[in-house]
Amino acid sequence: MADIMADTETTGGEVSYPLKVTYCGACSMPLEYCEYSTCKDACREWLEKNLPNLAGDIAIGDGGDEKKHQKRGGKGTTSGKGTKKQQEPAKITLQLSARSKNKNVTLVKGLATFGVDLKIASKVFSSKFACGCSVTGADEITIQGDFSDQLFDLIPEKWKQIDEDSIEDLGGEPNKR
Ligand SMILES: [Zn+2]
Repeated sequence: MADIMADTETTGGEVSYPLKVTYCGACSMPLEYCEYSTCKDACREWLEKNLPNLAGDIAIGDGGDEKKHQKRGGKGTTSGKGTKKQQEPAKITLQLSARSKNKNVTLVKGLATFGVDLKIASKVFSSKFACGCSVTGADEITIQGDFSDQLFDLIPEKWKQIDEDSIEDLGGEPNKR
């Protein structure tokens, strides 16, 4: 009688084991995370020493502390995946900067990483805040005045792909609110 129950427990031979993850000896993180590690150099060294086969697959330390290769268009030396664009989280930053005693400007950086047209954004800001506003860099808009608070509401409202959490106020004000 009780045999039946015992049987069902042991017959399930197909147990799915957790995938084996290789951990890095330098930062103790799974290897995929090494590129985010703070000790990439140590990670790469460890990897080259212990798992040279994998060392090529995992891109650690693309930061350019090694010899700089001159960038030229066309074929790179590495074969394989087309682009080796690093995935870094997109972020918009707001920074208050004092131009003169009572004239603040707000620097908005990072909008372009969300696919926002800076010229349009600049127009949106200037009409919304009724102030001077211009594109001042590759991914930088300068707004005449302190509009950090309003920007937190306006940007996610205007561009749905941007979350309020993606906006960071770098401050710059001497007296915090
Ligand atoms: Zn590591």
